Amino acid sequence: MIIGITGGIGSGKSTIARELEKQGFAVYDCDREAKRIIAENKAVQSAIIQLLGEEAFVNGHYNTAYVARRVFDKKELLEQLNKIVHPAVKEDILQRNGQSAKPVLFIESAILCEAGLDELCEKIIVVEAPEAMRIERVIARDYKGDASPENINKVRARVRAQENAYASIPQKKRLTIINDGQTSIDELVQNLLTNS
Ligand code: ATP
Repeated sequence: MIIGITGGIGSGKSTIARELEKQGFAVYDCDREAKRIIAENKAVQSAIIQLLGEEAFVNGHYNTAYVARRVFDKKELLEQLNKIVHPAVKEDILQRNGQSAKPVLFIESAILCEAGLDELCEKIIVVEAPEAMRIERVIARDYKGDASPENINKVRARVRAQENAYASIPQKKRLTIINDGQTSIDELVQNLLTNS
């Protein structure tokens, strides 16, 4: 069985995923695995080169700065890039799940629905926390705690861009975790395991 873990930036998806891993569960970090697939999969590499040019790889390494520049503000190009990477990730998850001796594979992704990975999931854990708390956490994590108005605005824009990303998850599939600091991560995971 595949169970998704998703939620907005700073909600605590990775924190929950790490706790599950610590408890011995199989966890697939979609972001990290997508990077590995791009680094290893020749068919994916050729398709990216065809789309973005030879500069997409330098000495065999993915040139993320170049790719980010090329797709910045170019929705169609980004969509085409996603059409190469997302199906490869999907296929890899199915393969991993098929080979796994464990009964559950948790897959963590901020873009679970956007990437079409929600289709693979029997249940989806949506991690939630109040907006102000999420902004505070991201400032602490990514901006060395520099809560300047400029940084707050940047993070808020990222938070709000994802606002409706989880609306399509049907209630019967959804397991909500409120990670607002009132309950320890350990307890949140225990509750989740009892209810899923
Ligand atoms: P992103 O989408 O940006 O990767 P995320 O949803 O995976 O975010 P995490 O990286 O797990 O979020 O959490 C964001 C930050 O908040 C991290 O530095 C994490 O340690 C911290 N954090 C998460 N949950 C809690 C909590 N319950 N109490 C205190 N800090 C927390």
